[in-house]
Amino acid sequence: MKLAIIPGDGIGPEVMNEAIKVLNTLSHLDSSFSLQFEELPWSSNYYMESGKMMPADALDQLKQFDAILFGAIGDTRVPDDITIWDLIMPIRKEFQQYVNVRPVKQLKGVKAPLITKAPIDFVVFRENAEGEYSNMGGRMYHGTSQEMAVQTTVMTKEGIRRLAEYSFQYAREHGRKKVTSATKSNVITHTMKLWDEVVSEVSQDHAGIALESIYIDALAAYFINRPEAFEVVIASNLFGDILTDLGAGLVGGLGLSPSANLNPEGRFPSMFEPIHGSAPDISGKGIANPIAQIWSAALMLEHNGRPDLGEIILQSIEKVLVDAEFLTPDMGGKSQTAVLGDAIIRAIHEQA
Ligand code: ATP
Repeated sequence: MKLAIIPGDGIGPEVMNEAIKVLNTLSHLDSSFSLQFEELPWSSNYYMESGKMMPADALDQLKQFDAILFGAIGDTRVPDDITIWDLIMPIRKEFQQYVNVRPVKQLKGVKAPLITKAPIDFVVFRENAEGEYSNMGGRMYHGTSQEMAVQTTVMTKEGIRRLAEYSFQYAREHGRKKVTSATKSNVITHTMKLWDEVVSEVSQDHAGIALESIYIDALAAYFINRPEAFEVVIASNLFGDILTDLGAGLVGGLGLSPSANLNPEGRFPSMFEPIHGSAPDISGKGIANPIAQIWSAALMLEHNGRPDLGEIILQSIEKVLVDAEFLTPDMGGKSQTAVLGDAIIRAIHEQA
């Protein structure tokens, strides 16, 4: 497997080190898993030196890889819209990574903030290529009291259909019985009505899997009241972004939550990353939780034909969480990033 690694900014390189250690361990232990990777320095430092977040031929370079493992991006020296729109967005959009997968799963050993009737275990599929996160729009009358701004939400029938289709397929393949759609068609009457119609149409082809549509404001409350009741949730780009940070909070925090940006057809490489950002408040202290990054590597293996290795990683993470000896401060422990990473590697050796 040929892997592109973009550690990025802040805690990105710190947590990425641990994910690389884990992947190297697996490739030493399993001779059928061969791993070649190249580390790409594209980041805010790269921008400060070159005036660009990544080179002009970056996407052509990335196309040569089977997958991309991404750390985090964001730095006070560079405006957020540059770090995001000149690095991560072109990759997601040009590579048609239209499905953003975010597991909201309560791992064994994690003390979640809510007491629930059953462990929380659902997956959010967020639309990742269009929706509210289009950069179509503009501003007029700068600096005057008439200043105005317009940013257009773009929803296409095909964009909604392919996400819904992927989500229902996933539900079928994973024994899930219900898909919950986040909507707001009572107020956002054009784009969200199209969303509802297309999701409903797709659901007709999937007998045996129920569809429930819930307004986003109520859904946010249900995430707190009865998170154990969800199985698969589908949401637009903005709704999904917010819901999944809420989801991360439900199952232990940002340091524990991974995501996958998938191009399901495999025409382009998919990209795997933690959902957290560069966390400037803790960067350089060596205390970032590397689990989200390591779990994102597990998702990468699962998507690239080695679900067995992904499962070994997840079970090793759970073992270390249950032992609770080497936790980072965000989980109430005192360990450093590398100490937690090493504990996960020992757990992998024990399983092998
Ligand atoms: P961005 O805009 O890039 O999302 P941010 O600072 O707004 O950046 P995060 O970087 O995700 O958001 O961090 C939010 C909070 O969560 C911070 O207080 C940070 O310290 C904490 N946090 C995020 N990731 C981790 C992690 N891996 N380990 C420990 N704490 C984390």
